[in-house]
Amino acid sequence: MLYDSIIIGAGPSGVTCAIYLKRAGLNPLVIYKDAGSLGLSKIENLYSYDSISGIDLFNKGLEQLKSNEIDTVKEEVLALTQELNYKAITKDNEYEGKTLVIASGLNKSNLPKMFKDYLGMGVSTCAFCDAPLFKKKRVWVAGKEPYLTQMIKELNYFTQDVVTLNVEDIASLSGEFNLEKVTLKSGEEISLNNLFIALPLGSQSISSNLGVLIDDKGNIVVDENNKTNLNNVYAAGDIVKGRRQVSKAMNDGMNVAYSIIEVLKSKK
Ligand SMILES: Cc1cc2nc3c(=O)[nH]c(=O)nc-3n(C[C@H](O)[C@H](O)[C@H](O)COP(=O)(O)OP(=O)(O)OC[C@H]3O[C@@H](n4cnc5c(N)ncnc54)[C@H](O)[C@@H]3O)c2cc1C
Repeated sequence: MLYDSIIIGAGPSGVTCAIYLKRAGLNPLVIYKDAGSLGLSKIENLYSYDSISGIDLFNKGLEQLKSNEIDTVKEEVLALTQELNYKAITKDNEYEGKTLVIASGLNKSNLPKMFKDYLGMGVSTCAFCDAPLFKKKRVWVAGKEPYLTQMIKELNYFTQDVVTLNVEDIASLSGEFNLEKVTLKSGEEISLNNLFIALPLGSQSISSNLGVLIDDKGNIVVDENNKTNLNNVYAAGDIVKGRRQVSKAMNDGMNVAYSIIEVLKSKK
């Protein structure tokens, strides 16, 4: 079956895109492997929600795909190829689409495991998401330039009490449920309940084997229509430069959908 669009990712960018496409009479397929960044988040800054867990938001997105009768499969895309159309290849299947939307979020596998293990449990990679929880309180930050300076600037919007740790000095993190302690290579132990990590989080490698242009920070490069350097290939959400927030991901998804609708409808 040839889909109008294959969307990789069922986060806010992918789902928003799929809904707009479907409502315009197009036939998208959404492929996802897990809850992405929403699996780690608690959202307290989204229009109409005082507070919602990322997982609840993700599941609501899946329900919405279902109620809009949008084909959705839970499989990992292992490779992307281009022939006449685009193909997304998973372990057991190949899916073909006239257009391709990469909405696969950030690749957190770049993060050292000790930080990844406590993501959403004290470790954060997003000052705007989590620093409001520590207004006027002490926060700790570790990372590399230029990300570190930018992160400190953003943390300072919420608190002036910012302690910088040298990321190379950190030996391990510990805590039963949430982060409680950082142990330095010197043996020194620091009790803390938060650690902001300012390291580059790259794009998913699946897009690079197609020849999609990626900038030096790991973002997929897109134009104002969220189109990549490749014909009929679009990107949306965290994988594209800009604020890594749900509302921005939704906006990107909508933008991609408008672009695809214009291209495909003008051909019909
Ligand atoms: C700890 C934490 C706290 C946060 N707090 C907030 C907050 O308070 N407010 C806010 O607005 N934002 C917050 N965010 C950011 C927010 O979660 C992201 O901006 C948003 O989820 C990005 O949406 P997305 O659609 O780009 O990607 P994601 O939501 O990450 O979704 C990516 C999708 O792509 C799929 N995928 C990836 N690779 C493949 C593959 N190879 N094959 C198939 N599927 C694939 C994943 O399974 C997933 O479904 C937080 C993030 C984190 C990590």
